[in-house]
Amino acid sequence: VDKEQIFTLMDSLIEIGAYYHLRGFSLATSSNYSVKLEQGKYLITVSGRRKERLTRDDFLIVGEDSSPLKDDTILTIIPDNASKKPSAETMLHARLYRDFPERVSSVLHTHSPLAAVLSRRIGEGSIRFKGYEMQKAFPGVETHEGTVEVPVIPNSQDLKELSKNAAARLSQMPSAPFILIAGHGIYGWGKDIDEAERVMEAAEYLIDCYWHDMTNKEIV
Ligand SMILES: [Zn+2]
Repeated sequence: VDKEQIFTLMDSLIEIGAYYHLRGFSLATSSNYSVKLEQGKYLITVSGRRKERLTRDDFLIVGEDSSPLKDDTILTIIPDNASKKPSAETMLHARLYRDFPERVSSVLHTHSPLAAVLSRRIGEGSIRFKGYEMQKAFPGVETHEGTVEVPVIPNSQDLKELSKNAAARLSQMPSAPFILIAGHGIYGWGKDIDEAERVMEAAEYLIDCYWHDMTNKEIV
């Protein structure tokens, strides 16, 4: 993996962090962002860092098992890689990369208030978006006329269980472009950072629309 390429990827995620914080999606050190460098090597945000002030120092490279890599190639790029602590939710990122390699090369996770409220209201199940032009922002969706269904799973502090549950629900719903964790937030992905960003932006937009629709039935 080329050092300059890694720095460019870090810079893209730094920009995303600043923007998501401004939008209120990544407050109080919440959220985590990652990108696949190659199979089994993922660049991810360090745990507990403020997302509006990310620097290149706030990233590390982890392996398939979510632990920091320590081999020489990695240490020449990030000298303190082995001593950095990855985001608490790294396991869920790693699971998405492992189980869905053909469509997941970047994972973005936010704690936006509306996603937290709506998913908490649902608890467990799914949400169906239908009739919105914005659905076309998702990979493979060509018309507003179809239904985009995304899973909602219960939150858990047991990341192993949460990851397993997310992967199981997504394998039953292979075209879901993102997943909601109840009272917690959104996980979205794409074949690169750009696609993941577009998916997340559309997800936030549709959640917003869904919420307005749900709470303003009388005027529709
Ligand atoms: Zn989270």
